[in-house]
Amino acid sequence: MTTTIRGACGHDCPDTCSWLVTVSDGKAQTLVGDPAHPFTRGGLCAKVNDYLDRVYHKDRVLYPLRRKGPKGAGEFERVSWDEALADVAARWNQIVASDGAEAILPYSLAGTQGLIQMASLGERLFGSMGTTRLIRDICGEVAVAGLSAANGTGMGIDPEDIVHSRFIVLWGTNTIVTNLHLWPVILEARRRGAKVIVIDPVRTRTAAAADWHIAPKPASDGALALAMMHVILREGLVDHDYVQQYANGFETLVDRAREYSPERAAGITGIDADEIEKFAREYATTQPSLIRPLIGLEHHRNGATLFRTIACLPVLTGAWRHRGGGLQRSTGALQYSTLDVGRVRMPELNKPGARTMNMRDLGRYLCSPTLAPPIRSLMVYNCNPLVTNPNQNLVRRGLAREDLFTVVHDLFVTETARYADYVLPAASQVECLDIVPAWGHHYLSMNQPAIAPLGESVSNTELFRMLARALGRTEPWLFESDESMLRAALASGHPWLDGITYERLQAEGYVRLRQPEDWRPFALGGFQTPDGKAILDPAAGEIIKGDGLQLITGKQLHFLNGSYNQMERHQRRAGELEIELNSEDAAVRGLRDGELVRVHNEFGSLTARCRISTAIARGVASMPFGGNADAAGASTTVNVLTPEMETDNGEGSGFYDAFVEVSGAGGWMPQAACK
Ligand code: SF4
Repeated sequence: MTTTIRGACGHDCPDTCSWLVTVSDGKAQTLVGDPAHPFTRGGLCAKVNDYLDRVYHKDRVLYPLRRKGPKGAGEFERVSWDEALADVAARWNQIVASDGAEAILPYSLAGTQGLIQMASLGERLFGSMGTTRLIRDICGEVAVAGLSAANGTGMGIDPEDIVHSRFIVLWGTNTIVTNLHLWPVILEARRRGAKVIVIDPVRTRTAAAADWHIAPKPASDGALALAMMHVILREGLVDHDYVQQYANGFETLVDRAREYSPERAAGITGIDADEIEKFAREYATTQPSLIRPLIGLEHHRNGATLFRTIACLPVLTGAWRHRGGGLQRSTGALQYSTLDVGRVRMPELNKPGARTMNMRDLGRYLCSPTLAPPIRSLMVYNCNPLVTNPNQNLVRRGLAREDLFTVVHDLFVTETARYADYVLPAASQVECLDIVPAWGHHYLSMNQPAIAPLGESVSNTELFRMLARALGRTEPWLFESDESMLRAALASGHPWLDGITYERLQAEGYVRLRQPEDWRPFALGGFQTPDGKAILDPAAGEIIKGDGLQLITGKQLHFLNGSYNQMERHQRRAGELEIELNSEDAAVRGLRDGELVRVHNEFGSLTARCRISTAIARGVASMPFGGNADAAGASTTVNVLTPEMETDNGEGSGFYDAFVEVSGAGGWMPQAACK
């Protein structure tokens, strides 16, 4: 008999596609997008179309593995769960006795973005032990900090309302590749008369498909936004009524914008003053105007400032008044605010005063000779930090420490897992139960397990129950069932969850939050600041300058960060690791299109195929982020070149503030000769 099970993708992606899995004889036969979902419309992406091949991949870890070779060699032997758990518990008990619980660092992020599989029982277990607590704000928190400084929240309009927009600015986001289900919404708006503008230093697929591509130098977006304000003020395009009623700081904004004439901004951004004037005028006079930023800006050291500055624009023009106007970055905080997340994670169990560490600095912590207590054990789940963290060489050096006891829970022996003492088998999304809040739309989804976990793999929640038991813990809250936690989360009493029950999600797969039909969050003010008014405090922020080419490492089609690089088909489609650079930059370095080149800086180096292009500005280079391995076969990926550089909100990392040199077969070209 064949059954169909409803589920949802849990990858770190705004779209949270709903899917249908057909199952017969206990095996998943097909996995396709649910055509009835109003936002994701039956489409998955190039990665997830092959999801079942990943589930049934020959290299999947199905049993606990214990290291038997040197760290990094990836040599393991199968052991029983009992053996593995007993050893992990004994080692952790020993470490706690000798160095304290802070010598253990649980390390995870968004390998699955489900409510309980991402963060629930692990939080309770490690929090109550008093281990070092990880600050996981390497990405989105930069944007949230910037938007919150202006609006008191990172919240924006409903993405589906973008069909009402008439001037759509995709600011630092490659929508077609990384947020593909928003693209039909944008195309529908365009069909109704909207103009689509992309702001990106690289001519991405989305930029090529837009009506207008504006290419500022990386991280100069604050100067561009201030020059827009300059023009808007000079030409009397301010919505004074809106600003007067719903904003503070107008005088500050006027003072700052005065300093950024289009001519001055042209020198900073590399965009002609005429183009800045035209863009500012059209933005202010075409309503509803919508700014859609996403990942690009937050990967700069001045990322929070850029968001804070750009957030002034829809206030100044009163764009928030209009349906489809304003700004939209993420729906994640809004979705989470409807659920009782506190009941799931139980932060009250955390031992007070436990040490915290920013995930960006993993390599520094692991290699620090002075850290007290040192990190003696690392527990990695939902994460592959050797690929996704900056300063890969330092992370690798830390993972290679013989005195570090590392446990990794994953579907594959990832780059990080090769350094583990134990690799524990993780269940995939089609084997787990969860609720998946989306950060790209307003539908709350339930993911139901379609098949039993393969081999001896277990979900994250089950892993933490097993670890708690092995550690001799007996508190009932460490063993709460998945269903119980999900029911508790839904019982928040939030009006937008009215009528959205566990049973309904089970039956329907997804339900739209019960927001008002015409929902304009800030049409009448109501910003989440102390007095309900937006704070106008724009600035350009410090733009990092360096020698060589500024390296942008954008997300891509075939890998999701480090995931899917185990799959040959995806490797084949992704092709060799490439670096794209401008023809003038190539000429000055004597590089030819198609040759293998060394890309290097003070952090490390790798080999890539050179692609000379007119789609990228002079002084900028672009490489894919994630699992694309060195073109010469070394075990490095692009983060071997990125620094762990603190962003201006203190929590993120300036991934895009790396500078590199590129040299051909002829060898190293001194940086001075490349300027
Ligand atoms: S990765 Fe994103 S686009 Fe792809 S299936 Fe998952 S949610 Fe959809």
